Amino acid sequence: MTRHLILVLGDQLGWDNPAFEDFDPAQDRLLMIEADSEAGEVWNHQARIALFLSGMRHFANEAHRRRWPCVYMKVDDPSLPGDFAGRLAHALHTHQPKALVVMETGAWRMEQLIDSAAEHAQVLLRWVNDTHFLCSRAEFAKWAGDKKELRMEFFYREMRKRHGILMEGKEPIGGQWNYDAENRKGFGAKGPGTVPPPARFAPDRVTQDVISLVQTRFAGHPGTLDHFAWPVTREDALVALQHFIDQRLENFGAWQDAMWTTLPFGWHALVGSSLNLHLLNPREVITAAEQAYHERGLPLASVEGFIRQVLGWREFIRGVYWLDMPHLAEANHYGHTRDLPKWYWTGNTHMACMQATIGQSLQHGYAHHIQRLMVTGQFAVLAGLSPQQVSAWYRAMYVDAVEWVETPNTLGMALHANGGRFTSKPYVASGQYVSRMSNYCKGCRYQPEVRTGPSACPMTTLYWDFLIRHEQAFAGNPRTALMVKHVGKMSEEDKSQIRAQANATREGLDGM
Ligand SMILES: Cc1cc2nc3c(=O)[nH]c(=O)nc-3n(C[C@H](O)[C@H](O)[C@H](O)COP(=O)(O)OP(=O)(O)OC[C@H]3O[C@@H](n4cnc5c(N)ncnc54)[C@H](O)[C@@H]3O)c2cc1C
Ligand code: SF4
Repeated sequence: MTRHLILVLGDQLGWDNPAFEDFDPAQDRLLMIEADSEAGEVWNHQARIALFLSGMRHFANEAHRRRWPCVYMKVDDPSLPGDFAGRLAHALHTHQPKALVVMETGAWRMEQLIDSAAEHAQVLLRWVNDTHFLCSRAEFAKWAGDKKELRMEFFYREMRKRHGILMEGKEPIGGQWNYDAENRKGFGAKGPGTVPPPARFAPDRVTQDVISLVQTRFAGHPGTLDHFAWPVTREDALVALQHFIDQRLENFGAWQDAMWTTLPFGWHALVGSSLNLHLLNPREVITAAEQAYHERGLPLASVEGFIRQVLGWREFIRGVYWLDMPHLAEANHYGHTRDLPKWYWTGNTHMACMQATIGQSLQHGYAHHIQRLMVTGQFAVLAGLSPQQVSAWYRAMYVDAVEWVETPNTLGMALHANGGRFTSKPYVASGQYVSRMSNYCKGCRYQPEVRTGPSACPMTTLYWDFLIRHEQAFAGNPRTALMVKHVGKMSEEDKSQIRAQANATREGLDGM
């Protein structure tokens, strides 16, 4: 007889899960479900599938070492139903637990599915708060209140005060909340110089088996496993974190927005997948960075900039997701409906910036924030691509992609599809921004400063067309008025040439 069946999802691989608090190996069991419907629910990068499966299998092995009974359903077990819902129903029927215990999940849809599976099986369902986050869903909803517009900066300051992070009494250390003026540089003509590489991990036996499985079972899925080196255990994740703190945090701030063809990881931390699978706890990530400031004198601009990502953006984005779902997933402020060009899945395009960003995403399942926001993201909004197709692409492509973080970042931040609920203006720029922040344009057949004609940069043409199309709306809002000031000075002839070139660009997207 099973007392509690505790469902552990692929992004819940922390041993600090509060659902384990009163775990009794004599009466309780863990339940872990691999399922085709999860791995293949959207078109998934092979590295993302391998990361989740390997992480889950390592976790189950650790449960075994701890002598915690664990019902583990492998994806290729033909005796079980293929989809997640069917497997959960099967487990509930077989084990007839007194209660199914589950920690809050990372996806709205998954919570609906679990609710209905428990109801159908007439099993008591106990939801447990996800204490991995520093701000609970209820606390965030209280902070948001009935604010129409949510701003990360104000939330972040509250979090700094509430948790006493980088504070001197009631004031922020150094006297400022934000040091971005010192950050966000480009590498310049000389390039990035020598950058210490991030920690990477050779696949162990478990990961090698998973890689073989993925290569056969999910052979048609995008991406490659040739470079798979992500942490899949807590031990590896801790090594990766320490390595970042010791070698890369110092320069994280200055170059967090810079891009370079030979530097897919820049100075970034690469902790997203470990955080999102709960191999790392955000508190230990923040503490490690703060300690490096106090004990090793690392630059405050870098340390604060990094902490803002984890304590600010990450917690804020999660709060927004739960506040605005399910309608957030359907948001389409501009009514964009165009299909994703095929080359989003292959990187085969003449646009060097897209080629580099998509290319490294296919190789590693990774691109850093500015590549996601100001290359693939801004192109999508400028070209009028369907937000839902774009969101499915981001969810498929990145090893750190989990719905609660991918959806608001894509629909809210990159595509402005929720009408600016948490961003004051769309993140769009011409090819000249890409040129300033990277070396991509040097190897491109297009020219970033040219808006019309055969060498016109598609990013630039579409950017000006976007401003022309939204001139009135943007001019009427003090936050966006500056963006369209220059459009007001353009001749009608210039505008119509840009419009014509933009239409041709959109019609010929597949050949760009
Ligand atoms: C369109 C788009 C889609 C994105 N999809 C995801 C996603 O699916 N999963 C994901 O974790 N992040 C996503 N991000 C945010 C960000 O790009 C990644 O967190 C980051 O690139 C991960 O790499 P890193 O660990 O090297 O991060 P670093 O740049 O080193 O930052 C450290 C950590 O801060 C947190 N962080 C930074 N920016 C954000 C942000 N905007 N939102 C939430 N957390 C943040 C992450 O946990 C990250 O690991 C997305 C951003 C955009 C613009
Ligand atoms: S010229 Fe335009 S398309 Fe080419 S790399 Fe630069 S921004 Fe991208």
